[in-house]
Order: sequence, then structure tokens, then C-alpha cells
Amino acid sequence: MQERAEDTTARTNHEMRELLRCKRCNLPYMSARSTSGLRLTYCSLFCELSDLGFSMDALEHMERAEPGEKDDTPREPVAIDT
Ligand SMILES: [Zn+2]
Repeated sequence: MQERAEDTTARTNHEMRELLRCKRCNLPYMSARSTSGLRLTYCSLFCELSDLGFSMDALEHMERAEPGEKDDTPREPVAIDT
């Protein structure tokens, strides 16, 4: 059965069995399943974003983003002189 696959995986990994409590929504969650960059603090990226106002992942991407790659350059038709 597909539904049991997760249970088996959880048992092999001690870390996955640990239930943490989200700092923001106060719900128990498994750190391994958290989508947050701070998976030991928040249950999901949404809670991380709501609490911090930004996400660690987004911050990293912003630092890595190369400048001058905006896509708002107007595309003018090329005038061909004949
Ligand atoms: Zn949460």
C-alpha cells in the first residue's frame, strides 16, 4: 500500500519521528517534512514568512540573483533600411 510508505520511512529515521512545535502556529510537525528553511522552528515556509516577514531561502536567492537581468526591456521592432 502506498499510504504505508511514509510510516516505514519515518521509522528508519529517528530525526523524522521527532515532533516539533511550530513557533508560529503552535502545531506539532515533523522537522523533516517542514518546507521552511528553518525547519526546526517553523512547520512550513508560510509560517516562516509570516513570522519573519521573509524566508531564508528567498534571502539566499536574492543574494545570488545577478543584477541586470530584468525582463522589462522594451522590444522594439528592428528597422531595416533598404
Ligand atoms: Zn506553523
